[in-house]
Amino acid sequence: MSKQVRVRFAPSPTGPLHIGGVRTALFNYLFAKKHNGVFYLRIEDTDQTRFVPGAEAYIMEALEWLGIAPEETVGKNEKFGPYRQSERKDLYQQYADQLINSGWAYYAFDTPEALDAHRKQHEAEGKTFIYNHHNREKLDTSLVISAEETAKRIANGEHYVIRFKTPVDETLHLKDIIRGDVKFETNLLDDKVLFKSDGMPTYHLANIVDDHLMETSHVIRGEEWLPSMPLHVLLYRAFGWDAPEFAHLPLILKPVGNGKLSKRDGDKMGFPVFPLEWKTEEGVSSGYREKGFFPEAVVNFLALLGWNDGTDKEIYSLEELAASFDLNRVHKAGAKFDPEKNKWFNHQYLVKQNDSDLAKTFSPILVEKGFSTPLEVTTRIVSLIKERANFVSDFWELTDFFFQAPTSYDEKASKNWKEETPALMQELISVLENIEDFTSANIETIVKDWLTKNEIGMGKVMQPFRLSLVGALKGPHLFDIVEIVGKEETISRIQKAISTL
Ligand code: GLU
Repeated sequence: MSKQVRVRFAPSPTGPLHIGGVRTALFNYLFAKKHNGVFYLRIEDTDQTRFVPGAEAYIMEALEWLGIAPEETVGKNEKFGPYRQSERKDLYQQYADQLINSGWAYYAFDTPEALDAHRKQHEAEGKTFIYNHHNREKLDTSLVISAEETAKRIANGEHYVIRFKTPVDETLHLKDIIRGDVKFETNLLDDKVLFKSDGMPTYHLANIVDDHLMETSHVIRGEEWLPSMPLHVLLYRAFGWDAPEFAHLPLILKPVGNGKLSKRDGDKMGFPVFPLEWKTEEGVSSGYREKGFFPEAVVNFLALLGWNDGTDKEIYSLEELAASFDLNRVHKAGAKFDPEKNKWFNHQYLVKQNDSDLAKTFSPILVEKGFSTPLEVTTRIVSLIKERANFVSDFWELTDFFFQAPTSYDEKASKNWKEETPALMQELISVLENIEDFTSANIETIVKDWLTKNEIGMGKVMQPFRLSLVGALKGPHLFDIVEIVGKEETISRIQKAISTL
């Protein structure tokens, strides 16, 4: 790669960023880092009808949270600014004019009603109306009226659009880094609108002009833009500019069934499809951040949706991803979204976290439940259970018995509470009362010695003991629980079990 790598993420701020968009941003970021290039963010907001307030700030915040913030964007290193297309509005007209003057584009005055009538007429004849070389000379365009007439109609403020004059009878052989050679017949393309009389460019014109002016070396974007590739390449040709290289990323597919992953799949199966929570009047859409996902886990998971480095390696830091990333190894086929794998990644990152950091995240939940436990104790508890959790929000369910006595006893486990159990539990209380050094290993030795000396079967005491403390036959090592709960509370819980069961 000779020229500097400059890649962009160019979302339209029409709502929260879907997880597919996040992956596009991530692959651009990784590609830039791999090649010591620049990853920039451009806001494509030329379509004012689809503009959603708050969406731009959301996109920025999401990328920051994930640790893949752009190097250049609105308000940050605006080397080729502005980075918001609505603020570049005045720039596009000259490029549209340039294409008119060179014969690569034309004015079209057809009213929406006229176009609708054409569409209906075609339908009635069993045909589809495509605005292109088939009929552009029969429609209301500057290709058929004189230059004077055209100028007059524009000066009179008549509604018009500028359309691209797609070349005829050409087979385009284009190169996509992921898909290899892709072929397009120009005769099948329509003459896309590039510019409207309200002075606004369409996506196609603004996107090409800006990718050129912002010196974009590679366009890495979702597969849904592949059909636009021939037009984009032709636009570069029309302007006499070098086209960037293209890479169209595979779709992210539903966990079950066919088709693209949608928000509905997430709602149905209980996983977020947005990085951050998104609130509107209609309701709240959950976000990875609020669900308790670690940003590193989300990044790691997304990187492997459609890419791998050829090994079995699954856990990567962002730096490792950047070092191994290779567009040539991105798959052509769609990548199935696996919500279970997603949680598995979070688990991997959770167990790697420092216990006291996890305890700090857990503490507010405890406070909410009414417990202000010292951080060292919470840290110890976290260390005992984190292997069983995917999220910090799982902690309470895994640890509630450390903080409060059981309010009920698991029915099935209660069957182990036999006739002789109360007497054995009374004896256990006496054993526990006499232990001075109330630490896990010591309690374990003394209790087990007592069992051995008196030839009492382990299960006869251990299961009811656990049931008394926890309310069920679950939880970490019993004597760790006993130590943390403390002598007095342990005894009181056994007494409560004796009187309840
Ligand atoms: N604004 C387009 C979008 O919303 C950008 C597509 C592209 O990357 O060219 O995704």
